[in-house]
Amino acid sequence: MRQPITIIGGNIAGLSAAYYLARKGCPVTVYENKIWDKPCGGAISIEYAHYLINKLGVDINAVNQFIHPVHFHFTNHHTVETDGLFVIISRYDLQQQLINRLQKKSNINIRFKRITLKNDDLLSGQTVLATGFSGFTRQVIGNQWHEREYALTLKYTGHFQALPPPGQRMFFDSRLKGYGWLFCDNNSQFNIGIGGLIEKEIIFQKFEKLIKTVNDKFHYDIRPARSPNIWKIPIMLNNWKAPVSFDKNGIEFIGAGDVLGLAHPIIAAGIEPAWQSGWLLGESYDPATHTINTTQYRHLLKKNLQLTSRKPFDIIASNMLRINYFPFKDQLSYFLMKLFHKKIIKQIKNYPWFAMVHDGNKKTGLKLS
Ligand SMILES: Cc1cc2nc3c(=O)[nH]c(=O)nc-3n(C[C@H](O)[C@H](O)[C@H](O)COP(=O)(O)OP(=O)(O)OC[C@H]3O[C@@H](n4cnc5c(N)ncnc54)[C@H](O)[C@@H]3O)c2cc1C
Repeated sequence: MRQPITIIGGNIAGLSAAYYLARKGCPVTVYENKIWDKPCGGAISIEYAHYLINKLGVDINAVNQFIHPVHFHFTNHHTVETDGLFVIISRYDLQQQLINRLQKKSNINIRFKRITLKNDDLLSGQTVLATGFSGFTRQVIGNQWHEREYALTLKYTGHFQALPPPGQRMFFDSRLKGYGWLFCDNNSQFNIGIGGLIEKEIIFQKFEKLIKTVNDKFHYDIRPARSPNIWKIPIMLNNWKAPVSFDKNGIEFIGAGDVLGLAHPIIAAGIEPAWQSGWLLGESYDPATHTINTTQYRHLLKKNLQLTSRKPFDIIASNMLRINYFPFKDQLSYFLMKLFHKKIIKQIKNYPWFAMVHDGNKKTGLKLS
């Protein structure tokens, strides 16, 4: 009997790795601390939502209801409106549904336990590290932790009572290396937040300004009872130069999702890249040797990131964001968005920023069985 591969972290990246490894006949044991409502905007592309529904039987309520258009607001008061591009999911619900469904599949064993480095008896020679932005990741990846770039983000959740829900709105401010959002699900539950390469000193001030803008513009009365916590999303512009695995205490830890800083370099959307990395990790498993080929994994990651979240457009745009002072940034983005918005939307739909090529695609050279 083959020894199961251990996966630490049973959320997006870890569960995806479990699903795809198990499909290739590799037994896995997943350890998750606890199901939780991870602070997250919860925006996933419609394509990915369909994928979760069709492949895994996940019930994503929003897809069967009205999908809101997206409004992009710029500080010069211009707005570009597009068709619905994404739906909002609850992270708690998604994690719970995925765990419930995967638990029933053969080769997958999911246990609730917080792993520490002392639990070496539970780790396999190659262990999948899908622990996101956490103390455990920090202990394993050591110095790599300090070489990362992080997006800072905070969000507040509430419920609209009488007023009509605002749909999905994103707010761009030329002096902010990031964006604000107001996302709403079909039950009038909303979350509002701000995120990007923002300095810690100004993030609360920018968040307050966003709330004031929204209240003034739409006559809402959003008042967070207290300041939300700041969260970090690891972002790497050139992931293919960084290692995908880390040796610690004689174990080869293979990273997936946020551990590798896969979130989108501009919008910091990390759910789909995390799922994608689990898929590619599964694709790199060789049943003959019962090992994950990390050279192949790195190669597939590079190829897929370049097709999706690291397209030349994204690289140029994210480098521009990193320039401290860029005149007319706001006007320029509005102008480009307005001029090319049909092309941009088509591009997002074909190769979502959010971003995976779900089922294999001739350009990725992969075809899933
Ligand atoms: C405020 C905010 C808003 C965001 N908005 C969006 C958005 O709208 N759309 C989007 O696509 N992305 C968004 N993101 C990014 C997204 O949340 C992450 O990129 C994504 O969750 C990464 O998935 P992951 O599986 O790699 O890590 P995680 O989702 O962090 O999962 C790691 C799991 O590991 C478990 N774990 C950690 N340590 C241990 C341990 N020692 N033992 C056992 N289990 C452990 C944790 O409990 C957790 O469940 C947002 C992030 C933030 C902070």
